[in-house]
Amino acid sequence: MPSSCSHPGHRHSIFCIIPPHMLRAIARNGNDQQRQFALDSLGHDSTHRSRREIANFAGQQVILPPPVILVPHPNRHVYNTNHGTTLPGVMARAEGQPAVADAAVNDVYDNLGHTFGLYLNIFHRNSINNAGMAMNGTVHYSNGYDNAFWNGSQMVFGDGHVFSGLTKSIDVTGHELTHGVTQFESGLAYHDQPGALNESMSDVFGIMVKQHALNLTTAQSDWLIGVGLFPAYPTQALRSMKAPGTAYNNPLLGHDPQPADMAHYVQTAQDNGGVHINSGIPNHAFYLTANALGGYAWEKAGQIWYDTQRDAALKSTAQTVTFKSFANLTVTHAAARFGAASAERNAVFNAWHTVGVLP
Ligand SMILES: [Zn+2]
Repeated sequence: MPSSCSHPGHRHSIFCIIPPHMLRAIARNGNDQQRQFALDSLGHDSTHRSRREIANFAGQQVILPPPVILVPHPNRHVYNTNHGTTLPGVMARAEGQPAVADAAVNDVYDNLGHTFGLYLNIFHRNSINNAGMAMNGTVHYSNGYDNAFWNGSQMVFGDGHVFSGLTKSIDVTGHELTHGVTQFESGLAYHDQPGALNESMSDVFGIMVKQHALNLTTAQSDWLIGVGLFPAYPTQALRSMKAPGTAYNNPLLGHDPQPADMAHYVQTAQDNGGVHINSGIPNHAFYLTANALGGYAWEKAGQIWYDTQRDAALKSTAQTVTFKSFANLTVTHAAARFGAASAERNAVFNAWHTVGVLP
């Protein structure tokens, strides 16, 4: 059975791009075939987790990088499971090799490169762990598997059934690999407010990977995560950072449940306490900050969020941090980087005030 994302948060979390509330909507509203694919995608992930733990204990993933790397460079490997579920699959394209016939392989190769590029060129970070970690992805996972995920050591992409084009979406790969960065940095838990911040961190850097790859300013970006993944509704998306709650609305998926402010915070036991739902609030705060400052999001807002991601104070509270504590950390970092009376610090404060997190 394909691995999935519906389990409670714990140290072996698998991070999926299609959230459980959307898969449940398909299971409710879809035809028999769509329902079956959605249920498969929601299926239990224990088989997958066990396989990963066994691989770790057996030391199978140990391929050490060269001892001296003077100039950081990406180290990508794209594999193909040919609709099986044994990871990583057969090597399809390694770093430096030319494009192959399979477009999904090339898309993943390119999007891993775009993600590496933002982190290196803008944040001076050498790959996911800041130590040159190989970036690995697997395509054609299972049959019609309606998701893409980071499993703690690599990315995995299904071909999709209701959804499609998961390998093409730059921000999907940026989002998922940022779960890896968070794993190595703040270690934000994956439930309730820490989990919504973890999800938001992935959307924040995911959208910046796309903006950087396409050279989009804050004004030019659509601020949509996963736009076009649903072929029946090509302009709809998984989430909108500019206008949370408006990303999608259709008979199969229902409507986007994301709140844009604390007055509409969703209390739910599902989705690990609504990690993909309440992330709309910090997502919107980032959008408001970047939009107020203009230019490219990574020049100012992105720097402040990256400083916060790396803050030891965030790491030490990763299990319990609230939106409010996180907001205060971003204000502190804005003041440290740009000045206590700076426009940047004020933009950050005003953004969190607008979404009702700071008074
Ligand atoms: Zn995620």
